Amino acid sequence: MAYKPTIGLEIHAELNTKSKMFCSCKNDPDEKKPNYNICPVCSAQPGTLPVANEEAIKKVVKTGLALNCKIAEDSKFDRKNYFYPDLPKGYQISQFDQPLCEGGYLEIPASPVGEKGRKIRITRIHLEEDTGSLLHPDGADYSLVNLNRAGVPLMELVTEPDITSGREARLFAEELQRIFRYLKVSSADMEKGEMRVEVNISISKGKKLGTKVEIKNLNSFKVVEKAVDFEIKRQEEVLEAGEKIIQETRGWNDKKEITFSQREKEEAHDYRYFPEPDLPPMHFDKDYIKEIKLSMLELPEQKRERFRKEYGLDDASVEFFVANKDLSEYYEKVVSEFEEWTVEEEKGEAHKKASKLVANYLISDVQGLLAGKAFVEEEFKITPENFAEFIKMIYKNEISSKVAKMVITNMFNTGSDPSNIVEENNWSQMSDDAELEKIIKEVIEKNSKPAEDYKAGKQNALQFLAGQVMSATRGTAKPDKVHEVLKKLLS
Ligand SMILES: [Zn+2]
Repeated sequence: MAYKPTIGLEIHAELNTKSKMFCSCKNDPDEKKPNYNICPVCSAQPGTLPVANEEAIKKVVKTGLALNCKIAEDSKFDRKNYFYPDLPKGYQISQFDQPLCEGGYLEIPASPVGEKGRKIRITRIHLEEDTGSLLHPDGADYSLVNLNRAGVPLMELVTEPDITSGREARLFAEELQRIFRYLKVSSADMEKGEMRVEVNISISKGKKLGTKVEIKNLNSFKVVEKAVDFEIKRQEEVLEAGEKIIQETRGWNDKKEITFSQREKEEAHDYRYFPEPDLPPMHFDKDYIKEIKLSMLELPEQKRERFRKEYGLDDASVEFFVANKDLSEYYEKVVSEFEEWTVEEEKGEAHKKASKLVANYLISDVQGLLAGKAFVEEEFKITPENFAEFIKMIYKNEISSKVAKMVITNMFNTGSDPSNIVEENNWSQMSDDAELEKIIKEVIEKNSKPAEDYKAGKQNALQFLAGQVMSATRGTAKPDKVHEVLKKLLS
């Protein structure tokens, strides 16, 4: 009987509010000057009082609604007491027994595409403040404290232990990041620490759960998957060897691709939680929640459905656009440019065909041209109007697919109008049949051997001759027309 892994996640996300959680200091994760965005409140001077940031509360409620949670009618902040140098007050304002959101779920998307997704239950989401950060200079016998991050609003989400593999853990975290970004509640950049994933993992054969191990400091989705899969295997080997799993916190060594013991679990921490006396309890009425609900933006799952229906895209293309939000917005701008020129034609079909063409060029050619760089519309030289015009030329057979590749490369580099590019280079699809026939005759004359070969029954020779014609016309001849004329002249 195989071991069954039981995995739960704890995910922290810094909210992208303008100011910090309990003071008016700027919330700027990119601030390089240490201790620049600080004030008496977030540096914990005596006599200061916190004031809760309503924007942050709304962002957590929004997230809770998106994740099908029950939003608390009554909620409050609590003090979590512990000592650490990055925590100036000696306690963290957090939420203990009345979190803002409880009991939701997130359906992890089907992957590979086409399979059924799976619901992962969410225990709770609460709001707290981030700590400062510590820097340990190499070789120094002191540490540096930077309080820029102290008091930044931090959302903590805890799942039920429903996850069973590294892949599922990664898919869950990826979809959650998309939701954060779609809702614009957090930039959720894992490398910058704006989103942090911790894993709780145990394995067992029976109903009784095994000893739980915690893995921290996982700074990318790939690492989440690798660390979970490594840990499942490690625990299996320990148990198979007749040894016991130690309850501990482990870290991830990226070079060796292994988890390693950081510290064994001491006695459970007693944080001596008590209600924060300096902040009033919160009460949410239905209208308040309703208003937040109305302000919510489209979610990844809604986008999947809409893109399938509206544009008739296949699942892989839909998934590509859901994951690349900025590019998907650009895509929709291009497609909306079609409205005019598809009016005369049978609208539905023409529109869908053109929409698919746009998707194909954005997913293959544009991705190739971007060469791994992220798409940023302000830096992208091709305007949606020009992109739509380009697609129109392909759709109406004005340029060949070979020429299209040259045109889009040119547009990408220069931002020029596609019709100008085609005109300047004389790239438009050859429509002059007499001219084409003349060129083909010349090609046959110059290549008498392959021409004879074809007449003698060698089919490959025709391919060669067609290639010669295409290069003589610089790709502007229609391939099927070339074949047709070649066959006629050689018969
Ligand atoms: Zn402050």
